[in-house]
Amino acid sequence: MSLRQVTIVGGSVAGLGVAQALRRRGFDGTITVLDGDPEPAIQRPALSKRFLTNGLSAQDIRLHADLDGIDLRLGVRATGFSLPDRILRLRHHERSSDELVRVDGLAIATGAQARTLPLPPLRGVHVLRTLADAEALRAELSRRPRIAILGGGFVGSEVASSCRALGLEVTLLEAEPGPMSRVLGAAVGQVLAAVHRDHGTHVMAGARVVGLTGEQHVEGVRLADGQIVSADVVLIAVGARPAVDWLADSGLDLADGVRCGGDLTVAGGVVAVGDIARWSSSRGGDMRVEHWENAVRQAEVAAESLLDPGRGRRFDATTMVWSDQYDCKLQLIGHPQPGDEFSVIEGSLEERRFVGLYAAGGRVRAALLCNQPHRIRAYRGMVESAAALPLAAGGMERASVPVKADAVH
Ligand SMILES: Cc1cc2nc3c(=O)[nH]c(=O)nc-3n(C[C@H](O)[C@H](O)[C@H](O)COP(=O)(O)OP(=O)(O)OC[C@H]3O[C@@H](n4cnc5c(N)ncnc54)[C@H](O)[C@@H]3O)c2cc1C
Repeated sequence: MSLRQVTIVGGSVAGLGVAQALRRRGFDGTITVLDGDPEPAIQRPALSKRFLTNGLSAQDIRLHADLDGIDLRLGVRATGFSLPDRILRLRHHERSSDELVRVDGLAIATGAQARTLPLPPLRGVHVLRTLADAEALRAELSRRPRIAILGGGFVGSEVASSCRALGLEVTLLEAEPGPMSRVLGAAVGQVLAAVHRDHGTHVMAGARVVGLTGEQHVEGVRLADGQIVSADVVLIAVGARPAVDWLADSGLDLADGVRCGGDLTVAGGVVAVGDIARWSSSRGGDMRVEHWENAVRQAEVAAESLLDPGRGRRFDATTMVWSDQYDCKLQLIGHPQPGDEFSVIEGSLEERRFVGLYAAGGRVRAALLCNQPHRIRAYRGMVESAAALPLAAGGMERASVPVKADAVH
């Protein structure tokens, strides 16, 4: 049965991407995009980087999309979905009653929300996911506080870099042996810790946060070993969780995102896309990826699966994620897995200009480029084809990397 109408819940990069991909593929039915945020979508990656440092406005980082023929409704939040009768429950911004609408096709693209920690709700404690979060954080940073960042993943590391660019006193608290070592392994984590330190960030690796000090406004972070790190502002940067709450009664499998098949189909005429989608990967097992390019590429497959179901296509794209930290431009192609072997095959970790490969069984699974942007095409091909690990790698710096599977941004 062909669709006459598609509703997309979530109007950020994944949701708008599906809308545009539907039009490009000639879909001439109604496309409605709903987003709970009354403000138009932004380029989220800018929030931890130039938005904090360059005094940009929301307008400067808007996500530009061709909305011709697309009915975009902002300030409309989905609060429930019933799969058998395809009814969406909606709550309009500044209205107290719910509206029920029947949908024909549905794309679930509600992304993720910042994770928090069980800490007291003191003033000066922030998370960073939305434009409002970034505006609130930036306003505090303008008072030149000491900042403690809980979590040295992509977002925490980038905010540390941005805060140092602003000349602030920064402490980065990371539970693992080094920043980003959960995703990139201990060897790279150590290099990144040194990069932070060279730029004046105080890195505390292996730190376990147990509480905050302060009465109304935060004054410090309490660690398990009894130390207190003084801070006027605290950023909790411990990853994100899929925004699935509105689907709680839908009957869908919501364990770590919305579970879908290899073609991103959740059920007939329903797809999941972007940060929220946990799809069955042909590379083995379920995957969920919280990165921009993944959302962009999935939008194409999700649109195809809506228009032409059951074709047996799979989302298999090898995607890249980038991170700008101080003078390091990191690009990670593919997804390192626990136990992968890491070898540096160009440059060296000390120079902070290198290409490292993550491999299993002698086959390349992922590549990490540090300050080597012009090499991206060559290594993307290598990861895509799961090429044999180049012999040269055997004689280079090598380490077995106990990385964990989920590369959370
Ligand atoms: C600070 C930061 C920096 C980042 N930097 C990078 C980077 O450098 N490189 C990179 O690859 N990735 C980066 N990412 C990750 C990247 O931004 C995400 O992968 C991408 O935004 C995912 O897009 P999405 O459309 O799936 O979800 P989201 O961007 O999370 O969008 C989901 C949308 O759904 C809406 N929504 C949620 N619930 C509802 C509801 N119930 N009803 C209606 N609407 C709803 C939200 O308002 C939102 O607009 C970063 C993320 C953050 C937070």
